[in-house]
Amino acid sequence: MIYRLLAKFNDDFGLLVFVVYLGLFLLAFVSVFIFPPLALVIVITGLLGFVGVWGVVMLMRGLERSMARRAIQQGGCPCCQGALLATDVVDPDGGFYQQCEGCSQAFEQSGRRAQDEDLYEEDETGVSAL
Ligand SMILES: [Zn+2]
Repeated sequence: MIYRLLAKFNDDFGLLVFVVYLGLFLLAFVSVFIFPPLALVIVITGLLGFVGVWGVVMLMRGLERSMARRAIQQGGCPCCQGALLATDVVDPDGGFYQQCEGCSQAFEQSGRRAQDEDLYEEDETGVSAL
């Protein structure tokens, strides 16, 4: 449950940051006409805020991968506790992707959730490797 919330947060955090920065842009635009120094403060705060955003992204992705690695070592899917099967597709770490029987989510050995394009290697006939 915690893992799924964390994964959802990591999936949607970029959109949240975009919406917040869009709102701050509109506030800064309006404040140029009302109180110009506020626009300057918002721009500087926004630029420095990228460091905080980067820190949050690194922390939350690290937590998600740590939880996934622990679940994978115990043989269960981090999302649904289903059984994991090793695929024949090699991940970037040199191991094999582990795919859940229940929810079909695949994981690298590092705990990263695999995307569809990671798993399917098209050959010349267009048939996927899995
Ligand atoms: Zn699963």
